[in-house]
Formats: sequence, structure tokens, C-alpha cells
Amino acid sequence: MKKRIIITSIVCAAALICSGVAAWCNNDKQSCKREGKYKVCTFAPLSEKKLSAGKNLVQGVVLHHTACQSSKQALDKLYFDTSSTVICHVLIDRDGTRYVLASPKERTHHAGYSRLNGKDWCNNFTIGIEFQSVDTHVQPLTDKQIDSAIDYLIPIMKKYKIPVKNIVTHEQVRNEWLKMHPNSNAPTKVDIVPEDHQRFMAALKKRYH
Ligand SMILES: [Zn+2]
Repeated sequence: MKKRIIITSIVCAAALICSGVAAWCNNDKQSCKREGKYKVCTFAPLSEKKLSAGKNLVQGVVLHHTACQSSKQALDKLYFDTSSTVICHVLIDRDGTRYVLASPKERTHHAGYSRLNGKDWCNNFTIGIEFQSVDTHVQPLTDKQIDSAIDYLIPIMKKYKIPVKNIVTHEQVRNEWLKMHPNSNAPTKVDIVPEDHQRFMAALKKRYH
């Protein structure tokens, strides 16, 4: 028995470093159920280390891809790794499974240097959605990911009266920031290719009026 506990601890400790199994080790952190077409796993409230103080104003949505090899690896970075402050509100897997990590009113660190509609620091007023994809250049969003994200978003958009034009990509808000702050060291990189953003918006407009 003691040996098994030791082995499990070693596996979990290793997994926290190298990802992959940590989500399995911490299974008590999430509760999953089917909502409509997709599985939705809601995680226990995050530690304060991972969140910023204050309330999110919920006026827009920033779309990202994880740049991770798997959703497990992404969850390890976004939720379990307390040394990293990077986090989003929801992670959407390739099959449409949603991992809900924070509630809309919580402020999460997903956008960094960013600007939307003349306001800096989008973490203060936007929801962050991470789509599992190594890179949307080579691994476009699946139709299920887009559909599931819209299932998640429609009630939030209605509740907080978020206009469709405020659903943007990370690259767009970063570029807006760089126009105003050209000397800052914000990296320039694609985060959700424009083609996938257009697919997302077309699907959203069909369902949200
Ligand atoms: Zn991003």
C-alpha cells in the first residue's frame, strides 16, 4: 500500500512537470457532465495566485489557440501550474469538450499586452477562450470546437450584452496595442488565423442575432 502511494506521488509529481497525466492525477478538481452535444467539465475555483483581483467587466471575447500538443498539456499549464499566471476562462478540446476554468466575472491572464475599442489591457474586460490546436496555421479549428464555443458564448453574450464585433482574436488585440505602444516588447505572432476567425464569426452570426 505504502509502495503504491509512493509510486502514485512520483507519477503525479513527474506529470506536473512534464504534463500529460497531471489532469488525471487531479481528477477531483473537475466535475463533468453532458450539456447538449458536448461534455462540459467545470473545475474547482482557481487559487488566487492564478487570478487577478477585481471583477471582469465582460465586454468582449478574445480567441486563442493553445499552441500545446494536447488539451491535457494545456490544462497543466493553464490550471495546474501555479508558477504560471497564464489562464483563460474556458478551454475547448478538438471534440468540443469544454473545460470551464473560471467564471465570466473573474479576471484571467490570457491577453497580456492588448487593446480593444480604444481600451488597453483586455484581461480587465474580456473573456478568454483557448482552443486546443498546436497552431491554427497547421491544425485549423474543428467544426465541433466552433459549435461548442458558440454554445458556451451565447448565454454570456446575451447576459452581458456583448456585441458580435467584440469577438476578436488575440493577434488583433495585440496589434492594436502595438499601434499605440510601438516600443513595447509585445511579441507579434498569429493566434487564431484569420480564416478560422472568419469561420467562427460566420457560424456565430447564424445562431446569434
Ligand atoms: Zn493567445
